[in-house]
Amino acid sequence: MNWYGIAAWIKVALRQLQLSVYPPRCIGCGVFCAMWVCQNCRGRMEHWRGRICLRCGQHLRSRVCSTCRRERFPFLQFRSLFVYRSAAKDAICRLKYGKQVYIANVLGSLLGYRLRLLKGYQKAAGVVPIPISWRHKLERGFNQSELLGEQVSRILGIPLYSCLRYRRHVMPQSSLRRAERHKNMQGAFLAKVPLSLVGKRVILVDDVLTTGSTAREATYALLEEGIREIWVATVARSKGRIAVI
Ligand SMILES: [Zn+2]
Ligand SMILES: [Zn+2]
Repeated sequence: MNWYGIAAWIKVALRQLQLSVYPPRCIGCGVFCAMWVCQNCRGRMEHWRGRICLRCGQHLRSRVCSTCRRERFPFLQFRSLFVYRSAAKDAICRLKYGKQVYIANVLGSLLGYRLRLLKGYQKAAGVVPIPISWRHKLERGFNQSELLGEQVSRILGIPLYSCLRYRRHVMPQSSLRRAERHKNMQGAFLAKVPLSLVGKRVILVDDVLTTGSTAREATYALLEEGIREIWVATVARSKGRIAVI
């Protein structure tokens, strides 16, 4: 195990300890309950189900969606757990803005178990979270994607590498319109890839996918540093298509 591995392991162990001290709460509304989600919120949680495009994960009627037939996305696969609305959206907002860190453990574990069922994700050499800017990190105290990535890493047994960072300041994507998001993110990331990942497959983890601009730019930065292919996994995804540039 290298330094990355040891540091990640210690972090996860500490968080597990913290989790065992606090009683479980519903990730959607925060009430104490025996499960990770209460009855009410479970009914409002919408899984990303049905026939999906084998590449981008979009719902569709044929094997590969019309966008993927025309376009080459830089990432190879894209999978999400939930539709980004209702209780799943509540949970992610409570994690990010309400600083309810336990939600990342739940959602990250659910994502990890889902990915474990998908062969390709299991063959990855590393899990890489989307970073947040240092300003956000200072404000929030944590990077939600890193917390999610830790759980994915733990469940898949694949090491976590927080090897992406912002090259410059970007506006929060949620504050921008769809069309502005791509421009905002262009060239935003810098990757410092460890040698053990060069030529390998990597799982890129984020909380939400909206236009795909963040994942796209992060993918470019990683590919440039010699990663062979990027498989993206997000907890939730909004209903619109991945933006085509
Ligand atoms: Zn609830
Ligand atoms: Zn597609």
